[in-house]
Amino acid sequence: MLELNKVETFYGTIQALFGMSLRCEQGQVTTLIGRNGMGKTTTVSTIIGTLASRGGEIRFDGEVVTGKPAYEVAQLGIGLVPEGRQIFPNLSVRENLIATAANYSGSSDPWTLDKVLEFFPRLHERLDNQGNQLSGGEQQMLAIGRALMLNPRLLILDEATEGLAPLIRQEIWRRLEQLKESGLTILLIDKNIDEMAPIADRHFIIEKGQVAWEGDSDGLTGDAELKARYLGI
Ligand code: ATP
Repeated sequence: MLELNKVETFYGTIQALFGMSLRCEQGQVTTLIGRNGMGKTTTVSTIIGTLASRGGEIRFDGEVVTGKPAYEVAQLGIGLVPEGRQIFPNLSVRENLIATAANYSGSSDPWTLDKVLEFFPRLHERLDNQGNQLSGGEQQMLAIGRALMLNPRLLILDEATEGLAPLIRQEIWRRLEQLKESGLTILLIDKNIDEMAPIADRHFIIEKGQVAWEGDSDGLTGDAELKARYLGI
């Protein structure tokens, strides 16, 4: 569904991606993992079109999206749960959810406000609270709910559970598993390798702006040397 082929991205004269290649197969959970500063967020920004690449190609569902503006990429059906959640602090939960809603996948059974509230009952209880009154876990549920309200075909989560307590993390993993079961394609960035491995199909380790290793969950979790070398764990 998504394919990056030798993508090169710069911040001014500083190169951050050096021939980055990655694939997300339809209906699968793919992870992008690596230590801080290796290029995960840069990869996400390049996919969604907020950073322009200077080389290589990105295809989404067969269509070349390299160079397209971010709003066009979103309309093709790529939804983002950004690092730091970025919810609107002065809007209520309800307003956050409906502000950007759309049916970009053209689904016959789209995500609606009611459906998102059923999926995250906690948000139902907080419907009239402002974004800045929510806990970190509630903010992340809201960020996921807001992305679902776009009815994406591919959902990207940049740091899916960063800073969240173990119980909340478990809830997020359960929900992501349900989304996978519903057929949604997911690209997941997170540091909790062992927690996300059970729901993931394929992993890409990024090291200095390029892929250093690619494999399945067994290959990743069972290889202590690999984890120590590239992930520092
Ligand atoms: P983290 O887990 O810390 O978010 P990351 O893997 O997402 O790390 P990126 O944020 O993509 O890494 O950063 C990749 C490289 O690009 C780093 O060397 C970083 O210093 C550099 N970089 C990121 N943002 C900028 C920027 N706005 N200007 C210049 N260099 C940047």
